[in-house]
Amino acid sequence: MIPFNKPYYSGKEIGSISGVMETKVLTGDTEMLRKCEIFLEKKYGFPKVFLTNSCTMALEMAAVLLDIGEGDEVIMPSYTYVSTANAFALRGAKIVFADSKGDHPGIDESKIEKLITGKTKAIVLVHYAGTACDMKQVKEIAGRHKLMVIEDAAQCIDAYYNDSPLGSIGDIGCFSFHETKNIHCGEGGFISINNPKLIERAETLRNKGTNRSAFLRGEVNRYEWTDLGFSSVPTSLTAAFLLPQLKNIDLVQKRRNMLWKKYEKALSPLAKKNMLLPLVPGYASNNAHMFYLVCRNEDERAALIKYLKEKNIQAVFHYQALHRSPYFKDKYKGADLSNADRYSECLVRLPLFYDLSNKELELVCRQVLGFFDL
Ligand SMILES: *Cc1c(COP(=O)(O)O)cnc(C)c1O
Repeated sequence: MIPFNKPYYSGKEIGSISGVMETKVLTGDTEMLRKCEIFLEKKYGFPKVFLTNSCTMALEMAAVLLDIGEGDEVIMPSYTYVSTANAFALRGAKIVFADSKGDHPGIDESKIEKLITGKTKAIVLVHYAGTACDMKQVKEIAGRHKLMVIEDAAQCIDAYYNDSPLGSIGDIGCFSFHETKNIHCGEGGFISINNPKLIERAETLRNKGTNRSAFLRGEVNRYEWTDLGFSSVPTSLTAAFLLPQLKNIDLVQKRRNMLWKKYEKALSPLAKKNMLLPLVPGYASNNAHMFYLVCRNEDERAALIKYLKEKNIQAVFHYQALHRSPYFKDKYKGADLSNADRYSECLVRLPLFYDLSNKELELVCRQVLGFFDL
């Protein structure tokens, strides 16, 4: 079976974890965590990085940091993962869903402004498949209406909008190191605090709402409950797993990009069949997080997944649009989001991971083309 994903191992994780075990300090606020955070700050220029237990947690922290609560409205795409919306729903905010673009599952930037009301507080972007949203357009809208911008950059490690790393452009960026992402530690992530005014509070939030970090630096003589908080700091064992992965990121990205380009080349004939292939606009880099196809209808997608499964290839669909979810459908009062619906029904993702061999990729392509009589 060619699986959809195999988590990447650098081979150095065990040694790194053993090293931390020998120190007998396994908790969060250690040198090992800082090493990961500094690596990310240096390589991508994020002003302040805090590792978290997940991107979900980073998004939940973002909602508190930006003081989003009852009576506030937050605009985001419907075609996204549950966590993007749940983080803000947890604070009692009203979630306002926007449609995806016709040629890409990312938010249709031109639909955002119509959704803004006097209560709108923030725009939450998802750079789908690591492909940047049109940040110029989004920043202009946010600037005109004085809205905050949060980037759900879960899939975006090593991805850029022009020269700016994704996750560094909005007030806050939220990343995932879940094992299905390019670089991972099983479960994990980080928050990038790009707005310097939020850094101090972020430090308190991650420390269960205490000024423990200031205490450890000797700035206060005891640590106390000073704000709301989360237990969001991963253990040093997790960071020890992550660090060698981070150090190998260029290697991982080179391989993934090569595989991605092979898919693009081999599957280009599908465009003739009116299948939609991944689109990377001129302002976006490609971090090769995902290779997807958009079938012409839901039945065709189901048949393709079944066909590939019979050939021992695991292809998978992706998000179910949140405005139609069991939790939200009765709350949704907005317009039809036909593109979000279409991607929910028709998008399929092909195997893409570091250890996928060229032979395996060629086999996947042959079978996909075979299904379409190409
Ligand atoms: C993976 C993903 C998440 C969730 O990340 P976790 O680290 O598992 O919490 C959130 N949003 C998007 C867009 C994702 O792809």
